[in-house]
Amino acid sequence: MRQARGAFAVLAGGTDLLLDIQQGRHPVVDTLVDVSNIPELSTIEVYQDHIYLGAGVTHKQIISSQLLLENAQCVVEGCGLIGGPQVRNVATIGGNVSHALPAGDGTISLLALDTQVEIASIGGRRWEPLLEIFAGPGKVTFDRQQELVTRFRFNKRLEREGSTFHRVMRPQGVAIAILNMSGWVKLDDSEHLADVRIACGPAGPKPFRGFETESFLRGKCLDETILMEAARVLDAEVNLRTSKHRATKDYRHSLLPVLLKQVLLLAVSRAKENRE
Ligand SMILES: Cc1cc2nc3c(=O)[nH]c(=O)nc-3n(C[C@H](O)[C@H](O)[C@H](O)COP(=O)(O)OP(=O)(O)OC[C@H]3O[C@@H](n4cnc5c(N)ncnc54)[C@H](O)[C@@H]3O)c2cc1C
Repeated sequence: MRQARGAFAVLAGGTDLLLDIQQGRHPVVDTLVDVSNIPELSTIEVYQDHIYLGAGVTHKQIISSQLLLENAQCVVEGCGLIGGPQVRNVATIGGNVSHALPAGDGTISLLALDTQVEIASIGGRRWEPLLEIFAGPGKVTFDRQQELVTRFRFNKRLEREGSTFHRVMRPQGVAIAILNMSGWVKLDDSEHLADVRIACGPAGPKPFRGFETESFLRGKCLDETILMEAARVLDAEVNLRTSKHRATKDYRHSLLPVLLKQVLLLAVSRAKENRE
């Protein structure tokens, strides 16, 4: 990157970047820095309490990983829905996150696991909460000319924890969900929600975490009334819009409680299965 002459961009699978350049959404560049062949970016590892997921890991590798299936089911489900087999063979999780769309399926699924991201530059490496690297649609807080996303890390799955990812999509053609949602829960001994995380998109200019909904749900036991109340809290904290090619704002609002119920009930049932 330091040696690149003129305007340059980092290239991983190219499934976002090359289309963006071709269709005029990204300035033309003189140099592409291809990071898709760096072995250190392509590993999925467990170390102490964390799972480490390389930025260059493809969606195909993610959905084939037993380690991720056991520890990050929402990520396996989210990445498994991206594109078709050809796209998943080359597209990476680092590219999905760095493209910084509010509804990237990989991004939203990682947010439910409270993921941290490692950013590297010639000066060193640092970890940041994933949510903090987004600055707006397609925009990031790290310096694209000097810094590279290298890894993600999140906690290993413990007993009584479960996660899932759902999305509603137009049947054909458009790569972005009408609405997607990922959830993670931890149950206590009496099957109340000891902790919970909800991420969804597009629900604002950046990938979205429903912190108010999470604090409403914490300590509660799910039933129809709580689900309806939680949906009202979520409805008030998201910022849904009408988009020309996908859906109206009203339609998105009507999907919100449906997705929330599906996500929470499935995550809870997985958490119940996952105990000694
Ligand atoms: C037909 C089709 C269907 C699709 N369907 C979906 C879908 O269902 N859901 C969905 O979320 N997305 C979808 N996408 C979008 C895309 O495939 C994903 O976002 C993919 O994960 C992008 O990864 P990539 O490796 O191809 O990124 P690239 O296109 O190589 O890069 C994307 C951006 O990230 C930057 N970048 C890449 N790697 C790094 C890094 N390590 N550090 C810093 N910056 C980096 C690049 O410079 C660029 O700005 C689809 C795309 C296509 C073409």
